[in-house]
Amino acid sequence: MNHLPGDKMKTKPLSRRSIMAATAAGGAALAASPARAATFGNPDLPPEGAVNVTNPNTLTIPGPHDPGLAATMPTFLDPPATDAGSMPAFWASFNLAPRRIQDGGWGRQVTQSDFAISTEIAGVNMRLSAGGIRELHWHQQAEWAIMTYGHCRITVLDAQGRPFAADVKEGDLWYFPAGLPHSLQGLGPDGAEFVLAFDNGASSEFNTLPATDWMAHTPPEVLAKNFGVPAESFKNIPLQNRWIFQGKVPPPLAEVQEAIASKAGKPEYPFVFSLANAPKVSDSRGGSVQIADSSNFHVSTTIAAGLVTITPGAMRTMHWHPNADEWQYYLKGTGRMTVFNAGPSANTANFHPGDIGYVKKGLGHYIENTGTTDLVLIAVFRSARYEEVSFSDWLAHSPPDMVAATFNLDPGVVARFPKNRPDLMPG
Ligand code: MN
Ligand code: MN
Repeated sequence: MNHLPGDKMKTKPLSRRSIMAATAAGGAALAASPARAATFGNPDLPPEGAVNVTNPNTLTIPGPHDPGLAATMPTFLDPPATDAGSMPAFWASFNLAPRRIQDGGWGRQVTQSDFAISTEIAGVNMRLSAGGIRELHWHQQAEWAIMTYGHCRITVLDAQGRPFAADVKEGDLWYFPAGLPHSLQGLGPDGAEFVLAFDNGASSEFNTLPATDWMAHTPPEVLAKNFGVPAESFKNIPLQNRWIFQGKVPPPLAEVQEAIASKAGKPEYPFVFSLANAPKVSDSRGGSVQIADSSNFHVSTTIAAGLVTITPGAMRTMHWHPNADEWQYYLKGTGRMTVFNAGPSANTANFHPGDIGYVKKGLGHYIENTGTTDLVLIAVFRSARYEEVSFSDWLAHSPPDMVAATFNLDPGVVARFPKNRPDLMPG
C-alpha cells in the first residue's frame, strides 16, 4: 500500500510506545496498519526501519544466512529509522582480503577493484618478520604508511640522489613521493606490521616495479656496461622478482646510514614522522585528534592524515571534508558511522579493527564509539592539507534567528550550541 502525502492529514501518528503496545497486544493489532506520518527520529514516507513494523515476523530472516557474519554488522540488519536511500558500499575490510604469504612476510590489499568507491586511495596491510625484506622497488604513485606493530627500517633515495634510512615503530608514518625507489625491512625482535595507502585507488601492491625484474629483463652486456663490471658478475641474479623474502636482521641504523651516504648529502626533510607524538589539535573527555599533513610532515604533499581517538560512548562530531575523500583504517575498538548524501540518503555501517571506511568528498558523517574501550582510527586524505567543516560550528556561527527559524528551534537552544568547533563530544 502506498502512503500518499495526504494520508498524514487523516491519520494520527503512532508513537514508538503505541507501536510496541500494539505489537505486545498480539495478532489483533496486526490487522490495522495505518499510514503513519513522519515523526521526529522516524522521518521517512513510506516509513522505513524496524520501529515501523507491526508484524514482528517481518524482521526475521528465514532464508539462508550466516548469523556469525551478519552479527558483525548490526546496523545492516537493523538500520536506524533515520537511515534512508542507498549509496555505494563505504565499508570494506582487510579481515576479508586474502593474504599473499611468502617467506619473510605477507600482504593483503583492498583497492578500487575490490572496493568501487575507493577511487583516491588503495590500501595495503603488510607484515614483515624480523629480517623480512620487501624488496627494492618503486611505483608511479606515492606511498604513505602507518606502523601498527613492531619495528621496521625504511630506505629511500630522493630525486636529487640523496639517500635516507630510518627506523620506525608503532604510531610512526612514512611517505615516499611517487617514483622514489625504496625498501622495507622488519627489525628485531618480531618484525613489523603496517598499513600503506597509495594516493590512487587503482594502484596495486602486486603491480609495483621491482628492481629484480628490471635486472632479469636487461641483456647481460647492457648490465655490464651500466654497472661497469663483467657480465658474469650477474650470473646468479634471480630470474623472477622476489617481492618479499626472508633476510638477516640488519646492522644498527648508524652503520647503514654511513654505508649508503652520498656526496649529494641528506634530504632536506625526513621521510618519516611520529604521529603518535604529534600535538593534539583536539583533546577533551571525548577523545583526541592528531594531524600529520604537509604543514608538519613536510614531504607528505599528497597525503594528509588524522589519528582520531574516541572514548567509550563519545562521538566524532558531524562534519565533512571540503577538499578530499576520506579513507579510514580502524585500529582499535568498535564504532558506527553514518554517511549522509543528497537524496536524502543516510546509511550506517559498523566498524571493527582491520576495517576500512570511505567517505566521498563533501559528504556529511559522524563516528560513534559503540564499545567499552577507546575507538581509534586513522583517516587518510589525498591532499596536502587536512581540512574539515563542522556542522555545529557552522550553525553556531550562522545568524541565530535564521538557524532558529530554519529548524523550529528555541533561540535559547541555538545559543547553547558549542562555538569552539569541538571535534569530539563525550557520551
Ligand atoms: Mn612501495
Ligand atoms: Mn571525517
